[in-house]
Amino acid sequence: MEDFADLYSFCDPGASIAEMWSQQGWNITLRRLLNDWEVDRVANLLQRLEDFPGLNTNPDAIRWKHDRDGEFSVGRMYKRDLATQSGEIAGPWKQIWKSNTPTKIKCFTWLVCRRACLTQERLKKRGFQIVSRCFFCHEKEETNNHLFLHCRVTAQIWYLFQSIIQDPWVVPEHTADLLNCWMRRGGSKTQKKWWNLVPSCIWWSIWKERNNRCFKNITNPMQKVKENCINTLYFWCKEEGIDDVNQLVDFLGYL
Ligand SMILES: [Zn+2]
Repeated sequence: MEDFADLYSFCDPGASIAEMWSQQGWNITLRRLLNDWEVDRVANLLQRLEDFPGLNTNPDAIRWKHDRDGEFSVGRMYKRDLATQSGEIAGPWKQIWKSNTPTKIKCFTWLVCRRACLTQERLKKRGFQIVSRCFFCHEKEETNNHLFLHCRVTAQIWYLFQSIIQDPWVVPEHTADLLNCWMRRGGSKTQKKWWNLVPSCIWWSIWKERNNRCFKNITNPMQKVKENCINTLYFWCKEEGIDDVNQLVDFLGYL
């Protein structure tokens, strides 16, 4: 039984189907004769194959395979690239852009979290030959994480705000991590409104003071920097109608 058509006539479900399949060029070789029960099964299988409509009756089209609807957009590709690239920073990007800070502060916060702020670390990566020193402690290189998180001088402002919730914490390694864990803490719902503004406010105050020291050769005492930070936070909250901050400012002012 060398030929598929012969096999099919042996099964005897109908010659027309056998002709059709043989026209398809199928050529099946059997090693032995089929038993009766196998003949029924083969006939059944062939009938189902004939009825099989295929996986999809739609015409072929180019589809974006990473989303169900198959639609492609540059935004989707960008998000996917961000999620899959090794070494990428995971940050609370939505919260940054939805925060109640001025637009330029949102951009600035985003830069800090992505370690893209023009610190001396960044300038060195761009090929500038400089001897990097932190403008606050004069002890370590000025890197993004050192300046905004780990410097023993700028850390005083973090401790000022941390003293409010009286919760022991370990300073995260990266700025994006800090923003993530900061937003998970912070007390009641109304408190959260101003609490979530604090990291941006601290970073902005540090950055302004750093630029004063770097470009204008003006050095304000840290007490003044803290005051500026609190005033900035107060101003932002007033602009957004967050009144709860009055208590906070009184408390911090008292400190
Ligand atoms: Zn330092």
